[in-house]
Amino acid sequence: MSDIKKVAVIGGGTMGNGIAHVFAMSGFDVNLAETKQEFADRAIATIDKNLSRMVSKEKISEEDKKATLGRISVHLDLKKAVSEVDLVVEAVPENFELKKKIFSEIDEAAPEHTILASNTSSISITKLAAVTKRPESFIGMHFFNPVPVMKLVEVINGLETSEDVTKKIIELSDKLGKVAVPANDSPGFVSNRVLMPMINEAIFCVYEGVATPENVDEVMKLGMAHPMGPLRLADFIGLDVCLDILRVLYDGFKDPKYRPCPLLIKMVDAGKLGNKTGVGFYEY
Ligand code: NAD
Repeated sequence: MSDIKKVAVIGGGTMGNGIAHVFAMSGFDVNLAETKQEFADRAIATIDKNLSRMVSKEKISEEDKKATLGRISVHLDLKKAVSEVDLVVEAVPENFELKKKIFSEIDEAAPEHTILASNTSSISITKLAAVTKRPESFIGMHFFNPVPVMKLVEVINGLETSEDVTKKIIELSDKLGKVAVPANDSPGFVSNRVLMPMINEAIFCVYEGVATPENVDEVMKLGMAHPMGPLRLADFIGLDVCLDILRVLYDGFKDPKYRPCPLLIKMVDAGKLGNKTGVGFYEY
């Protein structure tokens, strides 16, 4: 298997533009695939803005910024975007049918040696790998938001992921300045399996009148040294996303300990999704 030099990132939204940013800044050529020119333009504008912030903080030079942007090319044709790359990182919305369609197209168009990775937060890597004819070259590369800042890449092995592919992705994460932590495919992997029940329990505390959101967050910040309380974090992640992930855990394990708090369901029904709608446990 050859070295990873050229990468395709599929989807330029919240995660995709950050992933493209990080690869390009580490010297990789990046094909960024989107569905419409305006979405691609928005992704590039976000990367530009985030790189400018790094220049103003003197973390990189103006030349570094220019070179980074110069390594990213935008594609509206998915098959073309993946036709000559060594790695594909998919970051389209969290919907199995959509990811299934995209991965079968990618599998057809990408060279035989190309590793396929998904940034999914909760869909089974084994199930996504089974859509392709190369499950041994399929892996989860779970980045965290904001990607240029957060150090972790949770590397998820599907049932058939080869050891060689896992090793390559761990080495690659190191080249990106990240720390890779391997895990085996299981609902919620490690990150969300530990985080979401904590968030859910924090919501139960509010639901049962044990404490206000401010006080729950204060306890976890001052008592447990969390930089952000669980309810502020839930607003940041999106309450709809938290609910979806809890449902994946609940369905996956059939264990009532993962049942979503009725208050969480009610807030999502009311459209109070956190930062993105301006209201969640806090107002923005
Ligand atoms: P997003 O909605 O911000 O971005 C998705 C992008 O994909 C959009 O720009 C959309 O236009 C594009 N897209 C849709 N169909 C496409 C196609 N056929 N080809 C190319 N692009 C296409 O979503 P996001 O928050 O960036 O999440 C992406 C993935 O990352 C999801 O699987 C999510 O679970 C996972 N994830 C999200 C976070 C987070 O904090 N947002 C963290 C870790 C993992």
